[in-house]
Amino acid sequence: MGLKLRLDSVPDPVPRKSTCQDGELMDLFEYQAKALFAKHDVPTTPGRVADTAEEAEQIAQEIGKSVVVKAQVKVGGRGKAGGVKLADNPADAKAHAEDILGLDIKGHVVKKLLVAEASDIKEEYYISFLLDRANRNYLAMCSVEGGMEIEEVAKNSPDRLARINIDPTEGVDEAKAREIAAAGHLPEEVLDSAAKTIAKLYEVFVKEDTTLVEVNPLVRTPDDQILALDGKVTLDENAEFRQESIAEFADAGSTDPLELKAKENDLNYVKLDGEVGIIGNGAGLVMSTLDVVAYAGEKHKGVKPANFLDIGGGASAEVMAAGLDVILGDDQVKSVFVNVFGGITACDAVANGIVKALEILGDEATKPLVVRLDGNNVEEGRRILEEANHPIVTQSATMDEGADKAAELAAK
Ligand code: GDP
Ligand code: MN
Repeated sequence: MGLKLRLDSVPDPVPRKSTCQDGELMDLFEYQAKALFAKHDVPTTPGRVADTAEEAEQIAQEIGKSVVVKAQVKVGGRGKAGGVKLADNPADAKAHAEDILGLDIKGHVVKKLLVAEASDIKEEYYISFLLDRANRNYLAMCSVEGGMEIEEVAKNSPDRLARINIDPTEGVDEAKAREIAAAGHLPEEVLDSAAKTIAKLYEVFVKEDTTLVEVNPLVRTPDDQILALDGKVTLDENAEFRQESIAEFADAGSTDPLELKAKENDLNYVKLDGEVGIIGNGAGLVMSTLDVVAYAGEKHKGVKPANFLDIGGGASAEVMAAGLDVILGDDQVKSVFVNVFGGITACDAVANGIVKALEILGDEATKPLVVRLDGNNVEEGRRILEEANHPIVTQSATMDEGADKAAELAAK
């Protein structure tokens, strides 16, 4: 999985993510989140996973009651996109599964379904625990107005979404959980029951080394049970050494094949949808390269960056070759911009890395490569590239010029 942005200073009601450096975060599928919930005795509907409509039918048959068929994609808003459907019998479950499999939900194609026992719902609430980096604290958010419109609640009636700071040294026991539920305006008669579920969700949050546990909806059933009907969990991959589940969940597929290949080579890579491949050293430099290329692209048919790729400090030939290999494997890429600022690994080493990488890749390196070197030992680096005189390589003196050149080449 790629890089995930940490939450900003004031966390959003439904936290967002993006590209950023280091300590990677891993979002789980709902079925994986619910498996963690079940492990910590959070009342939920775990269900089972199906890859085909026939399997979905089979699971519905075994459950023997009404079921809900749910798209398993790592993006919210599945309900509104037609990715969550109730089925009264196995035949309906199969029909819904056929409709949902292959559905494109915000760019995520559905390949797996969760088939779970359907719940009767009296009310839908919202609860989340997250890491509030700005305040070096945990934060709980809770609202009686959960369900699919929580973003609206956050925007239009923020007072209905309670934010409660949690002191990590004190944690959340049932009494604190009851306070959270009450602050979210959950009805008096379910506070005790909600407190039990919320305290267990906090246990998941802490014991599984997560940075986010979000349940929307947390439902009240007609007999006043409080169930986690949906689950979004983000694991902190820094905890891999003590959490077996991280490697296990990472294997569960759905990762972009290029991202997998990058991961095998320990590269920090995130695929984006543009045409200009980007390689740089240092997350900050790569992020600003993305901006500069996107800006330059406006003058060249609107081309955009194709990826984020940080090759880090040691820009060896092998790392450079692995990076180029990943980027050139992206059919959408039309040109590549290598933007390196020499530091401890000086520009001559990087230049040698590029030359050797092109040797290693041979005929596979066909797309134009714009290289901008600066920093430590830049003259020698530029000389090495000039001398190698590789037909696909063009050098640029500045980042702006390089970005413009790469965008122009991609637009051809
Ligand atoms: P999301 O849209 O991606 O957040 O998917 P959810 O899992 O939250 O499901 C969306 C909506 O479907 C929920 O807010 C519920 O209203 C409804 N839903 C999900 N599961 C069930 C269920 O078991 N029974 C009923 N009646 N509705 C459900
Ligand atoms: Mn939901």
